[in-house]
Amino acid sequence: MKTILSLLLCCSAVAQVADTKQTATYKRVKAELDAVPAIDTHDHLWPFETLPGYVETERGHGMNLSSIWRNSYYTWFNPTTKWTAGGKFEDWWQKAKSDFANARATSFYRYQLPAFEDLYGVDFEKITDEQASALNDRIFENYRDQKWLYHVVTERANIELMLNDPYWARLKFTTYYPFEVLVFNVTTLVRGFNSSEFSNPWDSPYRFAADNGLELKSLDDYLTVIDRVFQKAKAAGAVCLKTTLAYERTLDFVNVPKERAEKAFGRSRKTLTDAERKDFEDFIMWRLVELSAKYDLPFQIHTGQARIQGSNPMLLVDMIAANPKTKFILFHGGFPWVGETGVILMRHSSHVWIDSVWLPTLSYTTAKRAFHEWLEVMPSDRIMWGADCNHAEGIYGATEFTRRCVAEVLAEKIDRGELKDEHALRIGRQILRDNALALFPQLKDRLWKHKGKLEPPPVDKD
Ligand SMILES: [Zn+2]
Repeated sequence: MKTILSLLLCCSAVAQVADTKQTATYKRVKAELDAVPAIDTHDHLWPFETLPGYVETERGHGMNLSSIWRNSYYTWFNPTTKWTAGGKFEDWWQKAKSDFANARATSFYRYQLPAFEDLYGVDFEKITDEQASALNDRIFENYRDQKWLYHVVTERANIELMLNDPYWARLKFTTYYPFEVLVFNVTTLVRGFNSSEFSNPWDSPYRFAADNGLELKSLDDYLTVIDRVFQKAKAAGAVCLKTTLAYERTLDFVNVPKERAEKAFGRSRKTLTDAERKDFEDFIMWRLVELSAKYDLPFQIHTGQARIQGSNPMLLVDMIAANPKTKFILFHGGFPWVGETGVILMRHSSHVWIDSVWLPTLSYTTAKRAFHEWLEVMPSDRIMWGADCNHAEGIYGATEFTRRCVAEVLAEKIDRGELKDEHALRIGRQILRDNALALFPQLKDRLWKHKGKLEPPPVDKD
């Protein structure tokens, strides 16, 4: 009995030590990382007037607690009670508060908790009805003014610049926030075989061609139009390309001959076989990869968790190997294939980067393992991060999750004697900031925090 007791005591002591976040090393590293003004390489922050979270409440149009959950990753596999337009908060909350029962351990739930805790002083795990109602009121009040976004993004999350992917108007090339950096989303361009592919005019290369007096009647015309779109994106300040094709199709892109792609041009989707359509898309993707090099716009590619069949980053390796002048950025660390993504870097580190964007939100534990492994198999100047959210609370939560995750990994390596303090802090700073500034050197002209300013300089709105 005595032995069992001492064993239990010993185990509980070990269990306490096992939480890296309780160690002095972690606390020191985390404080240092919190002080790093971050370069966030990916978000979806809509113009303030059209944030997708707005609902009709008793007090009018605005954001509320239901918006914060509905417009988060939480709803991807957790059911949530729908908000009724004009409804009462209490009615919604009485049903919604039991929605979280099966989600407590999921990262899609947990990544938002730091926002409630740090921005509102609320422990969502133990929230009472009164606290929920007060939280709802405060969220509504905060979103009366876009200063809330500025405050949370630039001060609380300590983000200096944010690359923003405007997937709602891909070819509009407009920015809305002074801390925002334009991303050129090329996802839909691979479908340019027919104008009927573009229901949103702001995505349509056909509309772009018409607006710019360009003919678009052949594949050659189309290639000319795409080149002009690249020129416009570059002139508008875009720093990179982004594609989310992994949600729609396989990442296996074959370098098909032009004659095969030509067969699809001008025809509508229903008259094409799947193979013919894939030929066209593959052909255009290879041209986009070449234009990425030509215009020095590194290519952010969504890999992993999307259509699971076909989103393994290993499918990109032949295209990566054949295009050494293109800078490839493998998004989301290829989750769940984080080890595979690491080995791609190991073999092609001269022109490939890993972006851990969204990874801690998908699975905090996988992200920790990924950072541990990646730092062992590649140079530390290859890893970046991003928040990948569409409201202040999500951005704060995802940023805090990333800072914690990186700090835990570095602290563990320090305490195991695998990293010196100063080297660990340098790596943390690289992941959060310096690697993005090295890959996108034009951002150095837009840095503003060192000037002692409270806000970034304003940008002209159109
Ligand atoms: Zn995204």
